[in-house]
Amino acid sequence: MPLITLRQALDAARQGGYGIGAFNVTDLVQVEAVLEAASEKSAPVIVQTIVGASAFRSDELFWEAMLGAVARYPEVPAVVHLDHGPDERSCERALAAGFSSVMIDGSVDHETKLPRSFEANIEITASVVAKARKLGVSVEGELGTIGGAESDGTPTTEIILADPAEAEEFVARTGVDALAVAIGTSHGAYKFTSPPDGSVLHMNLIEEIASRVPGTHLVMHGSSSLPADIREEINRVGGELPESWGVPEDEKARSTKLGVTKINQGMDSHMAYMAGLRGHLAQDRLTVDPAPAQKRGADRMRAIIAERMDVFGQAGHAEDHEWVPFGAAGM
Ligand SMILES: [Zn+2]
Repeated sequence: MPLITLRQALDAARQGGYGIGAFNVTDLVQVEAVLEAASEKSAPVIVQTIVGASAFRSDELFWEAMLGAVARYPEVPAVVHLDHGPDERSCERALAAGFSSVMIDGSVDHETKLPRSFEANIEITASVVAKARKLGVSVEGELGTIGGAESDGTPTTEIILADPAEAEEFVARTGVDALAVAIGTSHGAYKFTSPPDGSVLHMNLIEEIASRVPGTHLVMHGSSSLPADIREEINRVGGELPESWGVPEDEKARSTKLGVTKINQGMDSHMAYMAGLRGHLAQDRLTVDPAPAQKRGADRMRAIIAERMDVFGQAGHAEDHEWVPFGAAGM
């Protein structure tokens, strides 16, 4: 029962009035931390990874391990999702590996680093949807430009907010299950250079887009909070992270009431992991075994993810739905 599609997870979230966190992982220890948090909180969860973002030389080896880990948590309804698929080939690889969901980021041409035209974005996205459909896999697309740098280094400096009319046309012509929309957030560990005053997120834009694409789920990218206490902790043990502010927790919670069902959060859990890792290494200067440091990192990551699951509302929803396993008829 554990592996489910993104469509199923997000439909259940909408029905239940909650959001589901999608947590980025680059290591098997982190995959376990996400699943442990979900198990502890009895929550459905999305585990996601970016092509080439792990230290594994082979994405396929890591992906296989991710799926293997999910299978060991039968109590956790989990989506295994490719985040920011840069091209069709990457999505095809994730489909072949057995992922239950893929994102095709058609908003930017990852070769030239230039934004794709609306038509070119539709073309590549529709093509991935056609391939994924045959396998019952869900697809997320992206519209508009979400600022900041992706973990794959894709530089996008300017935030171009999503256009509601374009969103409607994009969904109608591609059939995506979920849509990443630029609503004021940016990627990465450095977001806002001063504390956000008032609303960071364009709440009325979220509402307007949601009303135009009622059958599709909205995804919030770049929605980490960048907790100041964790940043300071990292900097006390050798880090040099500049002061930066992310998206306040209450705004994320509010967005889930307006139509956002998938909340991407990579940085907060990476920061927590790094605080544990660096903390251990700074304390135990004789260590040559990396495992104890990784373990402390994973404990910190599990703890912050468990906290976020309460904020997003997914905690306690693992058992209130009849999940259909990915691969079963019709899903
Ligand atoms: Zn993103």
